[in-house]
Formats: sequence, structure tokens, C-alpha cells
Amino acid sequence: MIYLNGKFMPIEEAFIPVLDRGFIFGDGVYEVIPVYSRKPFRLAEHLIRLQHSLDGIRLKNPCSNDEWRNILEQIIANNDGEDQYLYLHITRGVAKRDHAFPANVSPTVFIMSNPLPQPPEELLKTGASAITANDNRWIRCDVKAISLLPNVLLRQLAVDRHALETILIRNQFLTEGAASNIFIVKDKVLLAPPKSNLMLPGITYDVVLELAAANQIPHEIREISETETRMADEILLTSSTKEIMPITLLDNHPVGDGKPGELFRQLHALYQEYKATHMRG
Ligand code: PLP
Repeated sequence: MIYLNGKFMPIEEAFIPVLDRGFIFGDGVYEVIPVYSRKPFRLAEHLIRLQHSLDGIRLKNPCSNDEWRNILEQIIANNDGEDQYLYLHITRGVAKRDHAFPANVSPTVFIMSNPLPQPPEELLKTGASAITANDNRWIRCDVKAISLLPNVLLRQLAVDRHALETILIRNQFLTEGAASNIFIVKDKVLLAPPKSNLMLPGITYDVVLELAAANQIPHEIREISETETRMADEILLTSSTKEIMPITLLDNHPVGDGKPGELFRQLHALYQEYKATHMRG
């Protein structure tokens, strides 16, 4: 069961007009929210980021937070699986093709839920490989925009080279992954690039930094150079669907000793504990 513009229906019955500005211009924003034991994870934070994205494209939020909560509850109840991920997509609506904002148009709101895949056990044990590429996206990467063509092309570079992710470098500094945030570890200190217009403020990124702070794990939020990234003892990837993954091969060179490191193990365990508390709560 999906949600489209106020109605719940099977996905096969969901259609949008070809003049939808999402289709024509990529004029919209989205969110991806994991659900554990049928409870949306960090929902308040996702709704704050959604508001930030809507503000970034000057689109009025079509629902109050209570309305979002209510719709998402119904979607979760009407889909199989204890663990799901919600995909929420809002466009500026359907209008005659013209770049300028249309007057008096209702936004299109689409929500679906899919089973949440478990992060692959094997990759958690051995670590994953990543490549690097020049971050050639626009400079509002803090907006979770549906126009993802640069991210699509960058991620495909990784797929072409049998890697999990493409790590992005802008002006010799690490920004994030094509669809993830990236941390490095050097001399037992967790380093995170600071939030800015050049990266998406990840919900998982925040959880990891909160867990580090609450558990006396030395950490620093600061610019990370490309050289530091290449010389890192550990590289960690985070996202709502991948949680925390170790990157053990970067551009075909081993990261540190080429095995998942101590801070990965510690943060991964803390993350699982935090999820378990959420499920009980
Ligand atoms: N950065 C980008 C470009 C992303 O697409 C994503 C999520 O898919 C993230 C970071 C991680 O954000 P979150 O932890 O909120 O899933």
C-alpha cells in the first residue's frame, strides 16, 4: 500500500501526470526513514530535515508534523515486515511547463514503504571497498533534492568498479559519499567533516556523533583533507539503510591494516544497542 495525494492504494494503481514538476524538472525533495519493529527511527529529526529541504526549495510543507506521523503510521501498518524503510517524496505539483513557480498548484505527495534490507553480514566482517571521485554536485547538498543525477552517475562509477560507494572530494577535502556520510579515524580519534552546504546532514551521522560523545570516544568535527582520508586508520560509512559500514579498501589500497577497525566495532555495537532501545521504547 502506498500513499499518493491523500489516498492509500496499491502501487500498481498509483499514477502521476507527465507534467508533474518532479518528472519535468526534478523539482522536489525527499526523505528516507528507517522503521525498526514498526517504529520510525529518529522521526522528529527526519521531519526537521524535511522542513529544511522544503525551505531550501521554497515549497510550503503540505502537512503538519502530526499529519505526517498519522500518514506514516498508516503506511507502516499496511505494509509487511517489522523493519521497513519509508520513502517520502514531495514535488511542486502539476503545471504547464515553465521554470518559474506555478501559482495555486498543490504539491504532489508520494510515500511508499519497502522491506529494510539488513546490512550484509559479510561486508561487516571484511569491510567494503570504495573509490574516490571529484564532487561535481551543486552547492546545496544540504537539501535532500530529488534531482539526483550527479549522485546517480557518481554511484555508478563505484558499481562499475565493483565498489560499494564513491567517496567525494571537493577542492582536496572530503565531503561525503554519493549516498552516505563518511567519517575517518586517525590515531584513535573519530573525525567528521563539519555540516555545511556541501553535504547532507545525515541522521545517522548525528547518531554516531551522539554515541561517540556519550561513550567518551575521542572525536573531532573538522575539515578532513583528501590526503588525511587516504592515510586514515579507518574509514566509516553511515546512512539510514546501511547503518555503519567499514570501508577497508579505498581506490584499491588497504585502509589502515585493511580490516574493520576497533572504532568501527565499538560504534557498530553501540548503534545496535541504541536501535534496540528505540525498539523497546
Ligand atoms: N549523504 C547523502 C548524499 C545521502 O544520500 C544520504 C542518505 O542516503 C546520506 C548522506 C546519509 O543520510 P542519513 O543518515 O540521513 O540516511
